[in-house]
Amino acid sequence: MQSAELAPLPFDSWGLGLKRPLLVAGPCSAESEDQVMAAAHGIKADGRAQVFRAGLWKPRTRPGQFEGVGDAGLAWLQRVKHETGLLVTTEVATPAHAEACLAAGIDMLWIGARTTPNPFSVQAIADALQGSDVPVLVKNPINPDLHLWTGALERLHRAGLRRLAAVHRGFSWFERTPYRNSPMWEFPIRLKAAHPGLEMIFDPSHVAGHPDRIGLVAQQALDLGFSGLMIEVHPNPAEARSDAEQQVTPGAFSTLLDSLMFRSALPTSGMRSSLEELRDLIDQLDEDMAQKLSARMDIAERIGDYKRAHQVAILQPERWERILQRQLRLARHLGLSEAFVREFMDAIHRESIRRQTFEGAQEASVGSEEHSSKGT
Ligand code: PEP
Ligand code: MN
Repeated sequence: MQSAELAPLPFDSWGLGLKRPLLVAGPCSAESEDQVMAAAHGIKADGRAQVFRAGLWKPRTRPGQFEGVGDAGLAWLQRVKHETGLLVTTEVATPAHAEACLAAGIDMLWIGARTTPNPFSVQAIADALQGSDVPVLVKNPINPDLHLWTGALERLHRAGLRRLAAVHRGFSWFERTPYRNSPMWEFPIRLKAAHPGLEMIFDPSHVAGHPDRIGLVAQQALDLGFSGLMIEVHPNPAEARSDAEQQVTPGAFSTLLDSLMFRSALPTSGMRSSLEELRDLIDQLDEDMAQKLSARMDIAERIGDYKRAHQVAILQPERWERILQRQLRLARHLGLSEAFVREFMDAIHRESIRRQTFEGAQEASVGSEEHSSKGT
């Protein structure tokens, strides 16, 4: 099997004294020497992060935005390392970035969500890093594609790199979600299940997209047994030249860490029993499914309102047949049995129809009134 190829080392064997959960913190972008030093000293004063991050080359989705200070920032990261003792990391997207970082003694590199999905770019970086054994953190691709994520790790592994970790930063998704990038926990969970030895870091800043939601998703990741967190910390978030809406001050970073329960920071190398870990994963997936079912029923109800207003029949057998066939195709692809998927979809269809009928709609609205009257 291809997956057997990946044998990354655990943090304990990276030779850097990394603790679990590993905390990586720093601004989205390095903007000036003063800004970098202010962030670094603030993070150092808190004392819990071991690694300082700052993007020097910024991959922006649209042109015409701040694209980073480039090579000039390498000296600032060296100063951070020298003055604070923090390890330093930055994003690399080309062989030239990788070489510049190696020459400057940057402790760790990361590959960003816009680079991971490009096999040519990842291979070119892997070739440039061959023989260096520098640690590399690989962010998931922007789109939910597990093979591209695994493929990037494999390319680095084939280049002889063993100090590898994955960073989950959420996925861009067409549905509206409360997050900037949907966490879709099933993807990191499947990556971890295929490669149990792989260290997984969670980036709640890029998932949440707003300081208010960082704590909630960060806690979920810790409960799922992630190995660490990467959080964007800026001395003056409002003035940040990238990701201004999601960065937190060093003070807010400390408060955030105080609010988290670091369950896995236990003795015995921080590992809970794998049974417990797997049960947590199941609980999380069940919660995700309940949320999706509830969203689906709400939409079905809206369709019911439309059908009533336009005097269209509630039951539309051809439409249902199309939905079912689509699900069965998907099921085959995902290795789910046809009988199971038929039974599951039938149950969903029955409930949708019930909710679309007048009786169902009425019952739901009485339910929500009861709910709101309890709340006031
Ligand atoms: C970042 O870490 O600032 C960044 C650009 O992240 P991502 O590649 O996950 O979008
Ligand atoms: Mn960012």
